[in-house]
Amino acid sequence: MIASIAKALPLLQELQRLGINDTQVLDVMSQIPRELFLPPTLTHKAWENNALPIGQGQTLSQPYTVARMTELLLAHLPVPASSATVLEIGTGSGYQTAVLAHLFGQICSVERINSLKFQAKRRLNHLDCHNVKLRYGDGWEGWASKGPYHAIIVTAAPTSVPQALLEQLSEGGCLLIPVGNEQQSLTLYQKHNDTIQQTVIEEANFVPLIPGELQ
Ligand code: SAH
Repeated sequence: MIASIAKALPLLQELQRLGINDTQVLDVMSQIPRELFLPPTLTHKAWENNALPIGQGQTLSQPYTVARMTELLLAHLPVPASSATVLEIGTGSGYQTAVLAHLFGQICSVERINSLKFQAKRRLNHLDCHNVKLRYGDGWEGWASKGPYHAIIVTAAPTSVPQALLEQLSEGGCLLIPVGNEQQSLTLYQKHNDTIQQTVIEEANFVPLIPGELQ
């Protein structure tokens, strides 16, 4: 399932111009047909560097954001990517999940809107991403039974870091998460000898990580 490189090229050049230089990430993003993750009325915008609505008030992240977060995870893993276990919170369309599935060993992803989870499952099966497990649940709680994880990526913003996610990191593991309300900071947490080191990466703009009640 190779997306047309000609379609992908302007976006890849734009991502490079914005500072994305991990060729593995760019390669994978050029191969995954982003249009597959969008409602039919928006597929013509699939190769633009924009976040797009996917229904239920949610958005498919901007390609820059997907590329940047993936590149950061690859750079801070305690094990080779092919043997890494990754937890994603906020499956949404499943696009970021598909990118992760092409680069990392095992992906577990949690989504609180059941209809989005089912759509994502169908798309990921269609792309033969068989190293992915999806769960309908509350991402504030992580997915403890499948952990600990070498990396955790959160694609919705909580007002404070969910403690459960820090607890589910392996030794040397990293958590990449946007934190805040209107003003969000993409923040990297790394666990070493049971202490947590925190680094602010850049400003971010995600939908909120909603607490409690599932939909
Ligand atoms: N990576 C996704 C981004 C989707 S937007 C993509 O590119 O398509 C963020 C997602 O987080 C939404 O689907 C939303 O339903 C989900 N979300 C919000 N709060 C959540 C929670 N507490 N637990 C799990 N998922 C949550």
